[in-house]
Amino acid sequence: MDDDVRELYQEVILDHGKNPRNFRQLEDANCEAQGNNPLCGDRLTVYLKVDEDRLIRDAAFEGRGCAISMASASMMTQIVSGKTVSQVQYLFDKFHKLCTGEIEEFPQDEFAHDVDKLRVMSGVRQFPMRVKCATLSWHTMNAAVSGDSETSTE
Ligand code: ZN
Repeated sequence: MDDDVRELYQEVILDHGKNPRNFRQLEDANCEAQGNNPLCGDRLTVYLKVDEDRLIRDAAFEGRGCAISMASASMMTQIVSGKTVSQVQYLFDKFHKLCTGEIEEFPQDEFAHDVDKLRVMSGVRQFPMRVKCATLSWHTMNAAVSGDSETSTE
């Protein structure tokens, strides 16, 4: 990681970790799932409101865990809101591959703004133990839209 990205990474984790966005229960959620990362002790619930066109109208989460898991969940809720289920599944797939080092870069596409955030978050791949912390909320979101009520990183 070069110094700029490292600095930005720490800034983003600190900011979102301290002040998570959309940290609440979503009363009218129609999709929700619980995620569990036993390796670190991260646990969270993701709430989504998905309309009949499979568009995510609102996203929120609650839970407890390390700063990375909370920051990633916070950012995830911001990113998925206003996107379709297939768009967020696409982003999840790419983000996951970026975190595990399967791909080096996001393909250039229309999600440039979100991709910048995810690129910073994927700095976690320097710390293999924390990859599950960073991807937990995305796994959980994916479980929620797929109709599964629970997911675990194990
Ligand atoms: Zn963690």
